[in-house]
Amino acid sequence: MKMKICLAAFMTLLMTTLPLRAQGKLNLVTTTEDLAAIAREVGGDHITVDSIARGYQDPHFVEAKPSFILKLQKADILILVGRDLEIGWLPPLIQQSRNSKVQVGADGYLDASLQARILEIPQGQITRAEGDVHPLGNPHYWLDPDNGKIIAKEIFDKLAHFRPNDRAYFETRLNDFLSRLDDAEKRWVAMMAPYKGTKMVTYHRSFPNFAERFGLDIVGYVEPKPGIPPTPQHTLDLMNDMKRTNVKLVLVEPYFDLKTPNAIGRDTGAEVLVMPPSVGGVKEVSDYFKLFDYDLNLLINAIKKTGAK
Ligand SMILES: [Zn+2]
Repeated sequence: MKMKICLAAFMTLLMTTLPLRAQGKLNLVTTTEDLAAIAREVGGDHITVDSIARGYQDPHFVEAKPSFILKLQKADILILVGRDLEIGWLPPLIQQSRNSKVQVGADGYLDASLQARILEIPQGQITRAEGDVHPLGNPHYWLDPDNGKIIAKEIFDKLAHFRPNDRAYFETRLNDFLSRLDDAEKRWVAMMAPYKGTKMVTYHRSFPNFAERFGLDIVGYVEPKPGIPPTPQHTLDLMNDMKRTNVKLVLVEPYFDLKTPNAIGRDTGAEVLVMPPSVGGVKEVSDYFKLFDYDLNLLINAIKKTGAK
């Protein structure tokens, strides 16, 4: 008899906890490791998150693999950078996943750019003329911690929508992330204050939000247009400009060939720095905070070494 009561109580307990438990973890897929890092901050152990692109890859040009379709098939939520960053590879993956939850416009489809501060939005007619890969403004907006906060809030809204019972958990984590990021940002801005206005050149237009936040002056690009490889004439013009205005730094994202940047460095006396624009760009950069810590330290050391102004 006693045993029966125990069993009944156990069954009741099971029945009341099961519906919650049966929901399991929300399964998130992000296009980039930056979005995955921010999602992890908010979602904690109530989510699983997997990124399609690795941080050391050019996010504009990711080779589609069958395993990506499998990831998307199982996803509850897909988070993308947007602004056409993934236009070259994501749409067919979404289609082929046949997962209704993550189709464009579905509840599980989150374009993280919608509330963010986007720079370089083209005026007038939108065009992809000559292969420009930034037709809807600059998609590298996650490199401003203020945009990181906006992305985190958007992810929170989505998680709370899908798991209303876990809202308080996500909210605590969001607020903790925002306050840690606030503190870190103050520290980063203070670190960079002595180097305000330092001139530099970057390979691709990956860093305008970063430069705006930390007071740097990007005066030219190795690429003639975003997504277009360097041409001899453009490189010559760039080197002349750099010599005229005494630019001592060339930043290169890890996935670009160093041949042209090194030639520019030899000709102008500028230091060539490989600087990751994403979490996972180098091994040490394993979360969103470490991305800024790593890049800003790299930059400060190079500025000190070259005397760049
Ligand atoms: Zn780009």
